[in-house]
Amino acid sequence: MDKKSVVGRFAPTPSGRMHLGNVFAALVAWLSVRSRGGELVLRMEDLDTQRTSEEYADLLREDLRWLGLDWDRETPPQSQRSKVYDGYFELLREKGLLYPCYCTRSQLHNVNAPHLSDGTYVYAGTCRNLQIPPPGRAPAWRVMVPNREFSLRDLAQGEFRQNLTTDCGDFVVRRADGVYVYQLAVTVDDGEAGVTEVVRGMDLLGSAPRQMYLQELFGFPHPTYGHVPMLLAPDGRRLSKRDRDLDLGQLRLRMTPEALIGTLAFSAGLTDTNAPISAKELAGEFSWERLKKEDIYLNSL
Ligand code: GLU
Repeated sequence: MDKKSVVGRFAPTPSGRMHLGNVFAALVAWLSVRSRGGELVLRMEDLDTQRTSEEYADLLREDLRWLGLDWDRETPPQSQRSKVYDGYFELLREKGLLYPCYCTRSQLHNVNAPHLSDGTYVYAGTCRNLQIPPPGRAPAWRVMVPNREFSLRDLAQGEFRQNLTTDCGDFVVRRADGVYVYQLAVTVDDGEAGVTEVVRGMDLLGSAPRQMYLQELFGFPHPTYGHVPMLLAPDGRRLSKRDRDLDLGQLRLRMTPEALIGTLAFSAGLTDTNAPISAKELAGEFSWERLKKEDIYLNSL
């Protein structure tokens, strides 16, 4: 089999019906890859087994098909990969980069400043040199970060830089209950699947430097990143999972996939008119230059 040069991916979390933000990110990921004849990988991100289910995974696949967004292969869901993640965790341990962290949620909240806009904080390294661990508590595990800037040229957002020490701090890779965190799982899964292009929502731009750092440690090349802008309702409200009327379960009752894609594409600057269009037709005229760079106000649906 000849190896395709561009490999993109969908990495949905099956914790509910797809909402418009997910649809938009998936559409752009698909367009970017298919407009260049590349390959797409689907992966269910179901690390949080309390919130995710196989029923939602089936609905996600079914919604993607309805939209006309196909994929070439599906890799195993994250919930089945903890043995694989163990190996990469050991690699970090061998490199001497891991340490146990016993901080409680309230300690983390009170000690670590400043809080970043996305609700996270810069970890002050409290447990880095802990001599005597508190008894009777299982630790989370953190990876030490270098005092170095990671930079990327994002397809949608342009230049983005982050110093992992001053902007993030040592971060958790395995929780106290033994579950691996998103940052580790996503890096391993994208790396092993040979993903060369990661397209997803703008809310994950701040995660890219942590993933780039882990890619270096695990020996994976950096992919190209494209973080698509957030969708806003016509009145400027942020769309969220709470807007049940805008999830695909509801939208599919009253719209064709072409009408939905047409509205998304027009709102995002990808087409000149708000007319129905299929994903396939849109791929013929897709370019990252046309995509709006700021928050996208959605035309009414
Ligand atoms: N699973 C994440 C989500 O559904 C996306 C993660 C990613 O694309 O890296 O929001």
